[in-house]
Amino acid sequence: MSRETLIDLLYLFSATTFLVALKGLGSPKHARRGNLVAAFGMLVAIVATFFKYVDGHSLHHVGLILLAMFIGAIIAVPTARFVEMTAMPQLVAIFNGVGGGAASLVSITEFVHIKSSHPATYVTLEVLLGVLIGTVSFAGSAIAFAKLQELMTGRPITYPGQQIINAVVGLIAVALIITILVSGSTPLLWTLLALSFVLGVAFVLPIGGADVPVLISLLNSFTGLAVAASGFTLGSNLLIIAGTLVGASGILLTRLMSKAMGRSLSNVLFSAFGSVITATGADGGEARSVRSGTPEDIGVLLSFASKVVLIPGYGLAVSQAQQVLRELAELLEAKDVQVFYAIHPVAGRMPGHMNVLLAEANVPYEDLIEMDEANSELQTADVAMVVGANDTVNPAAANDPSSPIYGMPIIHADLAENVVFLKRSMRPGFAGIDNELLYNPKTILVFGDAKDTLTKLVAVVKAS
Ligand code: NDP
Repeated sequence: MSRETLIDLLYLFSATTFLVALKGLGSPKHARRGNLVAAFGMLVAIVATFFKYVDGHSLHHVGLILLAMFIGAIIAVPTARFVEMTAMPQLVAIFNGVGGGAASLVSITEFVHIKSSHPATYVTLEVLLGVLIGTVSFAGSAIAFAKLQELMTGRPITYPGQQIINAVVGLIAVALIITILVSGSTPLLWTLLALSFVLGVAFVLPIGGADVPVLISLLNSFTGLAVAASGFTLGSNLLIIAGTLVGASGILLTRLMSKAMGRSLSNVLFSAFGSVITATGADGGEARSVRSGTPEDIGVLLSFASKVVLIPGYGLAVSQAQQVLRELAELLEAKDVQVFYAIHPVAGRMPGHMNVLLAEANVPYEDLIEMDEANSELQTADVAMVVGANDTVNPAAANDPSSPIYGMPIIHADLAENVVFLKRSMRPGFAGIDNELLYNPKTILVFGDAKDTLTKLVAVVKAS
């Protein structure tokens, strides 16, 4: 077998591992294995690439390349290992951004490299698209990171005529690409680079913090396309396959997330959702009475229930209460109480957030039920206990056409005989809107950090 054939076979193997990995990532049970399979495939691809170029004597600066890889690894490994679960969306944003930036840099280098050999028009077009898409993804991800990390306001930043200005910038970028294709001008390439940067920033500014995770998924898809464009430029089938997989899965995830929020993608991208706060909040607006309870009351209620549905949300991740929640569920099960965890697809701040959090606490997958199943279980449940969730159980999404979240499918906690909320205050959830369920006569609120309250509940249930 020739050396080229062997390298092609290794690339084919890597591409296959990416497909197997994607299949694994489709279910929480196999996601970890899927990730490892993809990482192994990527390792094989990197080794094969070195093997391919080192022997052809076309790989220069090997020492610098290895040094760059080493620096990248010492930054990325601890960052990924020690990041807080609640900060995961920012991490994905910044990692995605550097991917887009790298694809753009590859395209710029290729432009300079191939220019003198008068390449075919389609080759230059691939390079220019790589610059445009990669830079938009880089700049957009950087702003998304800044919003999520609270380095800047998470509110939508809008100004009059914004969408028209963005459309004009986009059209100028297209005109520049056509001009560069005709003239091959390097100064115009720098102009395209600068304009792509502006476009990436301008595209993300009007998107509110609550919608940023959907945007990151879309930018991820852009990065995939930029990588695929680099693959065409460099004649690398593997990059084309990997880039296309990222592009396609990114766009599918974007659609799934928009659907789970009951909104269209154009509404997510262009409606500046979150610019108007309608909630009365903790300290503003008219005072309305709510029923609050103590952990002692709720512990007794739970102990004597026959079916309890736990509804986790973002607050569970904030208070890191997943272990205590599992402990409580196990204690209740030991008392013959049927316990389910109802998982809303957009609970938390990233897709699969609750699944990952509960898996961390070794909650069995069989105990997790999806929204539709949860809603039928809730009809016969004695208690729905909402642990740090809010928007995902807000009845306004189903009943109030004027609500910004109207149309979002929800978990109908209100179907249960008793509803218990564990939260710290009357503050709203991420959408910034009031939740009528908090004022429902069947609702009891236990104020406090979820972990503290759950720890007290464990003690009461143990004692009862
Ligand atoms: P929400 O953001 O609606 O509510 C979280 C609740 O947790 C708040 O009411 C807060 O109340 C409470 N909380 C925060 N910290 C604590 C704590 N330490 N202890 C107890 N309670 C706490 O969360 P949901 O999960 O219900 O909804 C997710 C929202 O994020 C939706 O609007 C969704 O559309 C959006 N989103 C989700 C994405 C995803 O992929 N998962 C992507 C994009 C957006 P208080 O401050 O009073 O404690």
